[in-house]
Amino acid sequence: MVWMAKNNHKEILICIVGSFLLWVYFNLYKENIKIIERTKVFRAGHGNIAKVQERPNVENKTDIPNIYIVTATYSRLAQKADLTRLSYTLRLVPNIHWIVVEDADNKTELVRNFLFNSKLQFIHLNKRTPNVKNRWEIRGISQRNEAVRWIRQFAQTPGVVYFADDDNTYDIRIFEEMRYTKNVSVWPVGLVAGLRYEAPKVSNKKVVGWHTSFPRKFSTDMAGFAVNLQLLKNITSVEFRASAPPGHHETDFIQQLGVELSDLEPLAANCTKVLVWHTRTQKPNVNNESKVHQDKNYTSDPIEV
Ligand code: UDP
Ligand code: MN
Repeated sequence: MVWMAKNNHKEILICIVGSFLLWVYFNLYKENIKIIERTKVFRAGHGNIAKVQERPNVENKTDIPNIYIVTATYSRLAQKADLTRLSYTLRLVPNIHWIVVEDADNKTELVRNFLFNSKLQFIHLNKRTPNVKNRWEIRGISQRNEAVRWIRQFAQTPGVVYFADDDNTYDIRIFEEMRYTKNVSVWPVGLVAGLRYEAPKVSNKKVVGWHTSFPRKFSTDMAGFAVNLQLLKNITSVEFRASAPPGHHETDFIQQLGVELSDLEPLAANCTKVLVWHTRTQKPNVNNESKVHQDKNYTSDPIEV
């Protein structure tokens, strides 16, 4: 009897262990099948560029303000990579109108095709930066002004305007915060001014100064403020001025809006959070191009366009 009971225990144990092993094997097998299928799908798709809609398919909600995003952009190796990253951020935000202004005499095929495939509502403009000595210091200025002109004429209130450079990094929560800007809203910007962040100083929910290495009346980067659309429409003279000293374009622009420090609306949890970073894309190294393409007429452009 004792032997039988022991043996029974053994059998039950073997049964349990056996079932467990079968279960493990079956699940691994199932996972394996999935992996094989995924590989098949990948192989089938390989070589074909996924078809994307040519025109945007975005539904606008009627009960929330529009966000007009102004992006200056110029031709360079990483341009499409930067624009792609930004467009994928903007896809996550409703009621976005993306105004992309090329720093060029003519609109390029690359940006045109890119925008048509972006699934975003966009406005494609171009304005070349004048060929002056300090051209680099006034980068983005002519383009942003061109967008402001378009906005004053065509943009639909209620709304907000934000100047978003193509190489920065944006947490989508900042768009929901800026959407309801009454006059001018402000928030911290990460990785700028030689600091971990530059930020408005806030006391009792009011901006009282700036955490900065480079003091100005409004010590904010382009990525750190948004303007109410109606305010920009009302004061028709406001523009980015190339005559402002380097680094003063933002403060000069905000001053023209007729606001004081105490009028600023602090966002991002009273300016205690960084939701935008002034990241900069490293210039790509393509020094080996000449080694692989002997043909002098070779241009790698078509692969991007
Ligand atoms: N930009 C431009 N023309 C130029 C250089 C820059 O339109 O010749 C654009 C650029 O694509 C970006 C914005 O202007 O959206 C600011 O330029 P950048 O990011 O180079 O400035 P930084 O990061 O140094 O502030
Ligand atoms: Mn930049």
